[in-house]
Amino acid sequence: MTGARTSQLAINGGTPVRGPDKSWPVWPVFDDAECQALADVAQSGRWWYGERIKQFEQEYAAFQDTKHCVTCTSGTAALEIALRVLGIGQGDEVIVPAYTFIATASAVMWVGATPVFADVDDSWNLNPELIEPAITLRTKAIMPVHFAGRVADMDSISAIADRHGLNVIEDACHSWGSKWKGKGTGALGLGGAFSFQFSKNITAAEGGAILSNDDAFAEACRSVANCGRGGEGSEWFVHVRLGTNARMTEFQAAVLSAQLTRLEEQTLRREKNAALLDNELGAIEGLTPQPGDDRITRRAYHLYCLRIRPEEFGCPREQFCSAAQAEGLPIAAGYGRPLYQQPVFANYGGGHDYTQYHCPVSEDLCYASGMWIFHSALLGSEADMRDIVAIVKKIKHHVSELS
Ligand SMILES: *Cc1c(COP(=O)(O)O)cnc(C)c1O
Repeated sequence: MTGARTSQLAINGGTPVRGPDKSWPVWPVFDDAECQALADVAQSGRWWYGERIKQFEQEYAAFQDTKHCVTCTSGTAALEIALRVLGIGQGDEVIVPAYTFIATASAVMWVGATPVFADVDDSWNLNPELIEPAITLRTKAIMPVHFAGRVADMDSISAIADRHGLNVIEDACHSWGSKWKGKGTGALGLGGAFSFQFSKNITAAEGGAILSNDDAFAEACRSVANCGRGGEGSEWFVHVRLGTNARMTEFQAAVLSAQLTRLEEQTLRREKNAALLDNELGAIEGLTPQPGDDRITRRAYHLYCLRIRPEEFGCPREQFCSAAQAEGLPIAAGYGRPLYQQPVFANYGGGHDYTQYHCPVSEDLCYASGMWIFHSALLGSEADMRDIVAIVKKIKHHVSELS
């Protein structure tokens, strides 16, 4: 029976929808396959730059429908290497979204170039209409992010890039398994960067990769990631270009191969659960889930993103998040500021004034409306999703208790 107590919000002392007896799926998901793979590598004594890496690279390229996969130490390194290979550096500009993780912009700075921010739109991705106005004679590339796994409008972005002779490097660090019109992300432009860091949907604690269909670009990325060495068959201590050491280990590759066997099923499960949430939460006044696009034929969910319109819902985002957390829902407000307001830009040279930026959608997402549910929650059951809906409806119903 639901008595008076259960009709009260947990944050006010009521009974939570999900008590401590109910837990969300934990991340990372792993089993004997990972443990055995690690033991096999250890016992083989072949810990470094060998068959496991080659195998994972082939598997991951096939999974994303691309020709080449070059593994490396992180998603950040993957972005830096891609930009380095394009010869982007001092005096050059790269257009990036204002709403993303720091690495999208810091990779540009790390090669000595200048990140130029464009606002996102209601898709939480680069607004194609704001890219062209940001292009100058110094622009060398556009770096869209497929935020939360939701593919950016790659038709528009590619058309703009073609018109201006720019390269497109995808920050695909949220989009393992996402497909645009049937093709995997990563090589929709010249190349793309992936991350296998601990929080990501496929992980070896750390790790990254660059995907591309371009032979010369992929070969140069491999060379840069491997101390500037030449291709297969060339002498080991001959260095043909400036490189770095960004190689991953056989341990990581072995874990990633095991993780990859689950990725498709997990992606489909998250997609199915997200569709339920879209239907139910999208019908609640004052909430808008991150919208899809018919051209996205498979969508990874690194996060389930949701926006609140405080006036219509009845409370500010911070109150909503605290109330939802008290009911047992792991939800967070996400990035607290658009990138151009990060302290690192205050003294960054290059003659670019980062105080000039005002990206209203990014600012609204950061300061008022954006919310994230971590991807592991989407690996739960349908009953778990119904609990999420019940939590949100309960808060909506009792929202006057929050003021
Ligand atoms: C995680 C992430 C990266 C960087 O990946 P690391 O492997 O952590 O270096 C880059 N871009 C975005 C959008 C990310 O979320």
